[in-house]
Amino acid sequence: MEFLELAKVLDQIENTTKRLEMVDIIANFLKVADEDIMETVFLLQGKVAPDYEGVELGVAEKLVVRALATISGVAEGKIEGLLLKVGDLGKVGEELLKEKKQHSLFSENLTIKKVYNSYSKMARESGSGSQTRKIQILQELLHNSSPVEARFVIRIAIGKMRIGVADMTLVDAIAIAFGSKEDQDEVERAFNIMPNLPEIARMAYNGGIQSLAGVKVVPGVPVRSMLAERLPSLRDILLKMGGVCALEYKYDGLRIQAHKDGNKVTLFSRRLENVTSQFPDIVKEIREKVKAENAILDGEAVPYNIETEEMLPFQEISRRRGRKFDLLETAEKIPVVLFLFDCIYLKGENLMNLPYPQRRLKMVNSVDESAGLKIGKSLIVSEEDDAERFFSLALEAGCEGVVAKSISDKSFYRAGAREFVWIKYKRDYQMEMEDTVDLVVVGAFGGKGRRSGGYGALLMAVYSKTEDKFTTICKLGSGFTDDQLHSLPRMLQRFSLKTKDRRVDSLMTPDYWFEPGLVLEVKGSEITLSPIHTCCRDLIKKDSGLAIRFPRFTGRWREDKKPEETTDEEEILEIYHSQKKKVLAENP
Ligand code: ATP
Repeated sequence: MEFLELAKVLDQIENTTKRLEMVDIIANFLKVADEDIMETVFLLQGKVAPDYEGVELGVAEKLVVRALATISGVAEGKIEGLLLKVGDLGKVGEELLKEKKQHSLFSENLTIKKVYNSYSKMARESGSGSQTRKIQILQELLHNSSPVEARFVIRIAIGKMRIGVADMTLVDAIAIAFGSKEDQDEVERAFNIMPNLPEIARMAYNGGIQSLAGVKVVPGVPVRSMLAERLPSLRDILLKMGGVCALEYKYDGLRIQAHKDGNKVTLFSRRLENVTSQFPDIVKEIREKVKAENAILDGEAVPYNIETEEMLPFQEISRRRGRKFDLLETAEKIPVVLFLFDCIYLKGENLMNLPYPQRRLKMVNSVDESAGLKIGKSLIVSEEDDAERFFSLALEAGCEGVVAKSISDKSFYRAGAREFVWIKYKRDYQMEMEDTVDLVVVGAFGGKGRRSGGYGALLMAVYSKTEDKFTTICKLGSGFTDDQLHSLPRMLQRFSLKTKDRRVDSLMTPDYWFEPGLVLEVKGSEITLSPIHTCCRDLIKKDSGLAIRFPRFTGRWREDKKPEETTDEEEILEIYHSQKKKVLAENP
């Protein structure tokens, strides 16, 4: 079929804002697209391959300007000026072609297949001379385009379709074209486990909607991620879950769906892009530590300090995204841990229709945990107090909250759905700890990896004037240079003790105890409630103390300060309350 027919449809879509009208226009066209069905759907999406294949068209605007200049005889500078004025290179191209006096005798009509194949070729061009070859392909397309065709040829090339044919609009159009409105659920089911609408349209065209029942979960093709609803309190969540649920840490990183198929490992992001090449370390862990021959696992990759076993702020991981060259080096500098929380497929079996507890058990049994691959923390709760305590632990560990999961018989993996089977509960505020605090070292934990033989993290305390004791407030492992780390054992030697100092109040047992003596300046992100630290214990909440989240050594040793001159509990309490006041003032 001629591309002009599709260009007219795209023009019609552009001129309506009504979704139902859009669905009808597309459905009518799909019915007659015949053997061009796949290419048609790809072009409607402005793509040459499903996102998960990682083939990107994205031609630079500059390249298109150059091709347009050659075709129209108008100078590049002038075209750029027009672009600034109009803001849409597609429209600029359309106008330039309208103004072009003569049509070349040698032009031939574009077909849908020709346009799709040209893009496909462009997308796969790489290496030296690829720019020139891309321009040539584009020039040929533009040379054979009518003005309205040029508008869409250009927009698809630069990845700015502007007409917004959303996936669900296409799902509905495919149902109507090859079945009826009632078939939308069946098309959506297929789309949720094989997010490849051109292929789904082809199957429906050839075998009717019923043929979509044959779409199966397979390793290598991502399943649309299950999503969480939200509720304002843990009490509401427990009620909604029927009084009992699994609570899990809500890790703050990047969602990763890991597929293992024999030796081949593929990783997909939340948006189902193929991100395998960005995480060679995770690929290795999945290959080596997942015992099953094939599996699809759902999890969150979090930047991690292996030596101190601390999670790091999410931003650290974004530095990995989009990097092409120094990935192995970056993997070493910013290690990530993949925390697994679900299993969609295992040993050739689709687990989506098993209740969650069974899926989790299978996952736990099929993975050997390691430094880079862990099972996410989970606890079955039925009491609000237990839920609160778990939530505090999650925050303190560097997570952004918890996700509650239904454990009922119906707790299936619902691909692509946001329902109350998963409910998230985050702090809906961001508190900032503006000032630094001075803390005293009372213990240390042995280090791992590069820090083995030395200290991984220090146990830090504040002073309680009223009780004349030192209460713990955080583990501190970040912010040290290598030199500073090396000097720690020497600096702490004179404070070393065999057992806990009697003025230290701690629920944790570190590997080494110290008499309170060495004071360090520390900056954290905020002060949170904590069930495991003793600072201000029971003052705000029974069985809770206060802790510093994401603590970092600022680099200043406060040797000028005596341990009793460190920040005291009252000040910590004040900081905690002022944070809250500030948050309330900002979010009344
Ligand atoms: P958010 O910005 O809150 O992460 P979202 O829209 O990306 O929202 P939601 O489904 O609403 O995603 O929230 C759940 C998200 O939390 C998941 O997409 C996943 O990335 C992350 N997550 C972290 N830990 C877990 C866990 N244990 N179970 C499920 N999701 C988790």
